[in-house]
Amino acid sequence: MVLDKPKQPLQLRDVPKPKPGRGQLLVRVSACAVCRTDLHVVDGELPNPKLPLILGHQIVGRVEKIGEHANFKSEISNQKFAIGDRVGIPWLGWTDGECAYCRSGKENLCDRARFTGYTIDGGYGEYTVAEARFCFHLPERYDDVAVAPLLCAGLIGYRSYRKTGDARRLGIYGFGNAAHLIAQIALYEGRDLFVFTRPGDTATQQAARKLGAVWAGGSDELPPEKLDAAIVFASVGPLVPAALHALAKGGIVICGGIHMSDIPSFPYADLWEERVITSAANLTRRDGEEFFEIAPRVPVQTKTETFPLEQANTALDRFHAGQLNGTAVLIVNAK
Ligand SMILES: [Zn+2]
Ligand SMILES: [Zn+2]
Repeated sequence: MVLDKPKQPLQLRDVPKPKPGRGQLLVRVSACAVCRTDLHVVDGELPNPKLPLILGHQIVGRVEKIGEHANFKSEISNQKFAIGDRVGIPWLGWTDGECAYCRSGKENLCDRARFTGYTIDGGYGEYTVAEARFCFHLPERYDDVAVAPLLCAGLIGYRSYRKTGDARRLGIYGFGNAAHLIAQIALYEGRDLFVFTRPGDTATQQAARKLGAVWAGGSDELPPEKLDAAIVFASVGPLVPAALHALAKGGIVICGGIHMSDIPSFPYADLWEERVITSAANLTRRDGEEFFEIAPRVPVQTKTETFPLEQANTALDRFHAGQLNGTAVLIVNAK
């Protein structure tokens, strides 16, 4: 399914099977989850995508071929892949390994980073190639469909969550895919969870309370207690000052999305007393290692709705319209 230009439907088309280069794996895709970032790319909200582009950065598949020198020990994970191994391919697709960021454990900020399904081709197709050093082995307790949403909503959400430190009272603004996964880890770790939804969305508030939130309400409400940290997963700028206003002294607001509407101004008093606003960008391989270690212990449960690959446009449209009951996962059956 090829994106020729933003703001157009994806096109079902035969393209040449990719060849794994040095350090790469050829992966036969079995499932690829749909992320909100895919919508942002299709809508032209992110600059300079590769075009034409195959979207998709929550890819599960099996190794069919190994490029030259791909089978080495990664400095972080000691991961090795064999033909037939199941692999997960995430958003961070390539880094140079030598810029100041890469050398200081911040490869998520690499100056020359490339991103799967955005600046390199991704998983809305039968085959893809990926850098072996950025691929993950996946926990066995999950099948291909159930594990796919963990590859972005899960592990970039996890990066946002880790930035909350040891915050006891944690607020989450926007209770979509990432929030639903991260809330489970937060509860497992004994945090008090406060969930903010669109005002009046009592169904989602009820679902949040059922999951274990101590409080759920509209984003226009203040929680019964001040928060030590808040993660804003919704791409709605006005939620940032709202979250800031709900913080205790020294609290932090983390913006977890790649795209957000403009943030309105707010009184300095809301930032005073060492409150912090930051964002979480991309992921490091270490985030992935940690997340795939903790997720099966919780165990984090995913909720999915499957579509055949050819119906990717339907999945995107329904995501856009807020009509999905869980993360959309494309099922790919390579010929
Ligand atoms: Zn770098
Ligand atoms: Zn994503």
